[in-house]
Order: sequence, then structure tokens, then C-alpha cells
Amino acid sequence: MQALAERLDAVVGGRTLVGYEIIGFSSLKTVVPGPDALVGHVVTRVGRRGKYLVAEFDDGHRLLLHLSQAGRLDVEAQPKTTRGGKGGVVRLRFSGDDDDVGPALLVREFGTERRAAWWVLAPGDNGPLDRLGPEPGADEFADFVLQGTDKRRVHTWLRDQRTVAGVGRGYSDDALWRAEVSPYATLAKLDRPARLRLLDAVRSALADGLTKERTRTGGLSDPKLGGNFEVHGRAGTPCPRCGAELHRVSYESYEVVYCPREQTGGKVLADRRMSRLLK
Ligand SMILES: [Zn+2]
Repeated sequence: MQALAERLDAVVGGRTLVGYEIIGFSSLKTVVPGPDALVGHVVTRVGRRGKYLVAEFDDGHRLLLHLSQAGRLDVEAQPKTTRGGKGGVVRLRFSGDDDDVGPALLVREFGTERRAAWWVLAPGDNGPLDRLGPEPGADEFADFVLQGTDKRRVHTWLRDQRTVAGVGRGYSDDALWRAEVSPYATLAKLDRPARLRLLDAVRSALADGLTKERTRTGGLSDPKLGGNFEVHGRAGTPCPRCGAELHRVSYESYEVVYCPREQTGGKVLADRRMSRLLK
């Protein structure tokens, strides 16, 4: 999302929103103010908070966009007139240079799950951003990792946006692998060196991911982030560090990938869903 925000800032930053077409009505999560409040105003910056894209306008209004798993964003150099196919959500049209027609952003969604969402926020209203925990780079997050006593498994709170914003399951897998910490560990059971490794691993996995994502261009049309992960989505292949086979375990409806040799002392984690079925 950070890399996408940077690309969008380059495309629409400094341009005026000249119009919009709502294609999928259920995805707009706010009623007042409506999108009309944004029309005629200049985007001063596109940034990111957690997994939200945040477009700031010159009068203090903000537009928030959360793409979720299936959401895509196309940058249209020349706005199209199609409805964006089956999964269209919204098209935002921006001013061009001189008298030219400007670019448009088309938000759309794959599949049938309607989870991509956007918000129009009045000045001073944080909307869903109020529920987000600190960014991984914040001191508050460092304190949580180094001194915290959270009882939940590490993989659970790494994905919890109220605990830390913007990590997600792919980077959770990779960060735990980098830190050589079991996804089932809890903070209370981690010693100081392991906590330091974990903090560094979360930050470095995200930073390295951002470096790779910055090589992309355009919107976010390709559903595959997966090529950038080190172990996430790679169960059954050799661990890039030690060569042992990476394992997967189903956990809270997610699939977690880990290296048994380096993260769990050789132990294969029990798949709770499977063991329940076998009882
Ligand atoms: Zn390994």
C-alpha cells in the first residue's frame, strides 16, 4: 500500500477532482459528507495509514480507500467510459494539464466478495483510522514488542490492525521466519534477544517489501503480491536460509508458513482444524 500510495501521489497529487462515478454502491461507507464535497478540490497528497490509502484535499476533506484482498486499482491515463466490468466500485476523474483530459482512478474488485470500501471524511474526522494501532516504525510499537505481555500468539497480534497497523499475513509469516520465532509463541515467553529480533524482523521485512514494491508502476492490477514474499505461500519448498522443507499450518482460517527447523525447534505445529476433524 505504501508503494501504491507513492505512485498515486505522483499521478493525482496537485490535480483537481473533477468528477466521479459510483459503480458499486455498497462500498461507500459514509453518507455525509458525500463525494460531491470533494469535487472541485485539489489533492494535496496521497499517503497511507495502515492498509488504507488516504487522499488529502486542499480544504481538509479526506478520501480513504481500503482495497482488501480482492480490490484492484487501475490508473487510466485516458478515462474510460466502461463501467469497470463486473466488479467496478468507483471511478474518480482528475483534471489534466492545460485543456487535456486528466487521468482517472478505477477501483474494482475480483470475485463476489464485496469488501473494498471507501470513505469521505470531513476535516478532523478520522473515521476508521481511529481504530488503528501504531505503525511498525513507531516507538509505541517497539515498546509493545520489547516490554509487552500480550497473551495472544505472535501471528495473531501481528495481523491485528488495532495492535500494529499494516502488517498483514504475508509479512507476518516472513517476519517470524526472519526472527526465527514460532508463529505460536507469545510475547511473555520470548526473551529479550528474541524480542529484539522480532522487532527488527517486522521492520526489515516491511522495508525490503517496500523496496521491491517500488519497482512496480501504475495502479494495482496484478493480484499477485506473492512473488515478493520469502516464505509466505511457499510451503513445500526449501527454506531459503537452511534448506529444510517449509511447512504450513491452518490457523484462524489462515495458512501460516514456517520453517520447523529454525522456528519451532523441529516441531511440526498441529493443525487445530485438522485435529478437530480427526477426533
Ligand atoms: Zn530454515
